[in-house]
Amino acid sequence: MLELGLRRLARHPALRLSAALGALTVAVIVAVPALHGAEPKLRVVATLPDLFVLTRAVAGDLATIDLIARFGQNPHDMEVRPSQILMVRRADLLIRNGLEEDAWIDVMVHRAANPRMLRGSPNVVEAFQGIEVLKAMTGRVDRSMGDVHPLGSPHYTLDPDNVVIVTANIATGLTRVAPEQARVFDANRQAFLEKVADADRRWKSALAPFRGAGIVSYHDSWPYFYRAFGLVEAGVIEDRPGIPPSPQHLANLIRQMREQKVRVILHESWYPTDVTSRVAKETGAKMVVVPQSPGALKGTEDYIAHVDHVVGALAAAFK
Ligand SMILES: [Zn+2]
Repeated sequence: MLELGLRRLARHPALRLSAALGALTVAVIVAVPALHGAEPKLRVVATLPDLFVLTRAVAGDLATIDLIARFGQNPHDMEVRPSQILMVRRADLLIRNGLEEDAWIDVMVHRAANPRMLRGSPNVVEAFQGIEVLKAMTGRVDRSMGDVHPLGSPHYTLDPDNVVIVTANIATGLTRVAPEQARVFDANRQAFLEKVADADRRWKSALAPFRGAGIVSYHDSWPYFYRAFGLVEAGVIEDRPGIPPSPQHLANLIRQMREQKVRVILHESWYPTDVTSRVAKETGAKMVVVPQSPGALKGTEDYIAHVDHVVGALAAAFK
């Protein structure tokens, strides 16, 4: 009937265009139920790769998850792009670090004008909540202390025990925006945590022979990792996070590393290696270049594969 009416209208030259538009509208209306036969997916934004892979493990295929910092990108060195603002604008839930590793998200939230993404909103998960924060600074904090870890070390997902807490925070956030899926999120999380627990036993036994060993790193990325695996921080090349080391600091570090016979330097893959190579050469320590978060290397796009890679590289370097 409708089609017949449109055809009749179309015979009138002046009405041809509007008839064509009318037909187009009908086509669109008809197409909508076909496109959205299933419930529209939840849109989640994760600021960082570690939070992205953990969110994916909990949400499964019930959410579309956008990642702001690309795999392999240094999160301490980000530029705001329009595509990221669009992700934040259309998001239902934001998963953020909470300890300012991703402080740039505030700029994106402001530009996206999505008030649900503001801190304190039920649509925002501060993933660190409930963990024991390491290297929290006390007293006055200013930029001279380094400009990227203002609230303590933000690299907490490198301790597998913290994954239990972080995934609980993520599941709680997902359940707030999609309460009807609570049981699925919980089941996904439990299945994932069982796999992490299995892998953790493997990681702990791989590193057990090196318990108590001192390690130096370029960036201060590893306090949670060291604690988890009984390793000892023997110094950090970048002594204040985000600020290149002074010659004085390097001289002291090299002397200490010789005295303590430090054998391994962990170098995060997104920093230039020149200073680390020099320290390695002068101390005889081995430089191990590893990504600090998942996805920077092919095959490490999930949490377990990422930690597998770091643990494997470290164990190989000690042997
Ligand atoms: Zn950092």
